[in-house]
Parts: sequence; structure tokens; C-alpha cells
Amino acid sequence: SSAAPAMAEAAMAARVPPDEDGDECLPQYRHLLSPDLLEGQVAFITGGGSGIGFRIAEIFMRHGCRTVIASRNLQRVAEASKKLVAATGQQCLPLCIDVRQPQTIAAAVDEALQEFKRIDILINGAAGNFLCPASALSFNAFKTVIDIDTMGTFNTSKVLFEKYFRDHGGVIVNITATLSYRGQALQVHAGAAKAAIDAMTRHLAVEWGPNNIRVNSLAPGPISGTEGFRRLGGKFAEKSNQFSVIPLQRAGNKTEIAHSALYLASPLSSYVTGTTLVVDGGSWLTSPNSFSALLDVWAAGANQ
Ligand code: NAP
Repeated sequence: SSAAPAMAEAAMAARVPPDEDGDECLPQYRHLLSPDLLEGQVAFITGGGSGIGFRIAEIFMRHGCRTVIASRNLQRVAEASKKLVAATGQQCLPLCIDVRQPQTIAAAVDEALQEFKRIDILINGAAGNFLCPASALSFNAFKTVIDIDTMGTFNTSKVLFEKYFRDHGGVIVNITATLSYRGQALQVHAGAAKAAIDAMTRHLAVEWGPNNIRVNSLAPGPISGTEGFRRLGGKFAEKSNQFSVIPLQRAGNKTEIAHSALYLASPLSSYVTGTTLVVDGGSWLTSPNSFSALLDVWAAGANQ
């Protein structure tokens, strides 16, 4: 009777791919899919120097893909690139962009095309977020999140379309969130920004489908070992046992998000477009959305 749950736990542990908390590559990796799944392809990953974007770059490279990782902090992407190349033996080009400035994206895409002659996949992962009640959110703070998340996703998608995807086809994966589904407390800025991206996913899937471009969203739940997790009360949720109410009873990890991104970016999903893949262990269905509890976290400065 007591052996059954233990066995179930062991079986489950075996099925959860291991992950590293920091921005480090996995010490070991067991392929669940063919290692040449993305052979010969090139992925342009915004926000690829840290967190979820970094792990997506690693997993794609472990499947034969070359990558461009781009964000504001050149030193950060340069260091990340060294680790990724060392762990996977694939090429990785680190570039400096601010997704709010289309000309910086255009220059980076030109450089990437000069280096690799092609881009097959765009991952829009760049974003900014923090906990803040609407009443304390400055007008400018709201605008900044919309600028980076929503405008940044549009800017990057449009530049890639004009410079390469229109004539060659391509795949776009927008990293969004489940925040707006139930009006998550202290998240009006990011929830609104990500909901707009999910809408953009459908609009662009319709308009660019004839160009052989697939556009989908990937909406992660709480993902351990990320800046998002640290800033959005993940530790608090862990301590107060909130993850036990998630149907899968735990937070997700970056490798799990990267595996879902791999599905959406690869021919495994060749007939999938205009949709959102929620990767949250069922979290949004059952997790508490307590305004007062999150206000306490915010007031205690846990988001600093
Ligand atoms: P993260 O490490 O902070 O990733 C955000 C990345 O965006 C950073 O690499 C940052 O690099 C880049 N960035 C920010 N502003 C930028 C700009 N203006 N131009 C270009 N790049 C910019 O956070 P994460 O938690 O891994 O999140 C990754 C993605 O997953 C985000 O879209 C986030 O909203 C989404 N997500 C995360 C969770 C979670 O639990 N972590 C849950 C749901 C959704 P620089 O500072 O160098 O620019």
C-alpha cells in the first residue's frame, strides 16, 4: 500500500527531464527525440542569454541547430554563447539588440544572415516582468512592459518576415504566459502584454500562413531556476506549499519548456499554427489568485 505511491513517484521522477538552476548548460542530456531533428537549421532567439531562452538555445543546439542569441547586454549573451558552444559543439552567434528599437533588430538579422545564410526559427523570448499592483504601477512602467513584450515581439517578427521569412517560410514561437486567463493579481502589465501577443500569434498565423510561416505561442507556468520565478513570488509559493495545488504538484523546469519549444519549432508540429501551447502542469486551472497574499509578498519586497 505504501509502495504504490513511492513507485509512482519514482516513475514520475524518471519522466521529468533534469534541469540546472542557474544559466548553465545541462551536465548530461538524454535525447528523447532524434539528435538531428533540427540539423542544418538556424534559430534566432531573443532573450537567449538567460533563463528559459538560454535553455531553448541549448536544447535546439543539442538537436543540430545553430543559434543566434540576442538581447541588450552583449556581455551576457557572449558568455552564454561560450557555454552553449562548449556544451553542444554547435555554432552560436551572440548579438546585441533592444527589441524596442527595430533598427537594432535589423542590424542583428543582417549580421546573422551574413554568418549563417539562413534563419528558420524565431523565438520571441525577450520580456520584462515584476509584481506590482495596478494602483502602484506608474504609467511608464506599464508602457515599458508593453514596449518590450508586445511591441518587441511585433518588431522582431516583422523584421524577420521582411528580411527572410516572406520568401523562405519559417517558424515563429512567441513565449507568452497564462497571467490573463484568470486576471492574475499584480500582473495587469504583463498579463495584458502577453494576451496581446497571443492575439498577434493568431493574426500573423492567418496573414503569413500562405508564406509557409507557422506562428504559435508557448505559455509557461511557474518555471524554477528563472528570473521570472525569483521575481514573481516563486520562492514564496514554494514555501507556502502552493505548488501542491497544481495538478502535477510541482513547478516546471526550463528543460520542459525547451522541449515544448522544440516541438513547436520542428516539423513534429508541421500542421500546427495560430495556437497557444500551455505548458504549466495544469497550474492556471487550480492555483490560487489571491490579491491580498500577493500584496503581502510585494510589500515585503520579495520582488526587488
Ligand atoms: P529572463 O531570464 O529575465 O529572460 C528575459 C530575457 O529578455 C533576458 O535575457 C533579457 O536580456 C531579455 N530582454 C529584456 N528586455 C529586452 C529588450 N528590450 N531587448 C532585448 N532583450 C531583452 O526571464 P525568464 O524567466 O527566463 O523568462 C523568459 C520568457 O519566459 C519571458 O518571455 C517570460 O515572460 C516568459 N515566462 C517565464 C515564466 C517563468 O516562470 N520564468 C513564466 C511564464 C512566462 P537583457 O537583459 O540582456 O536584455
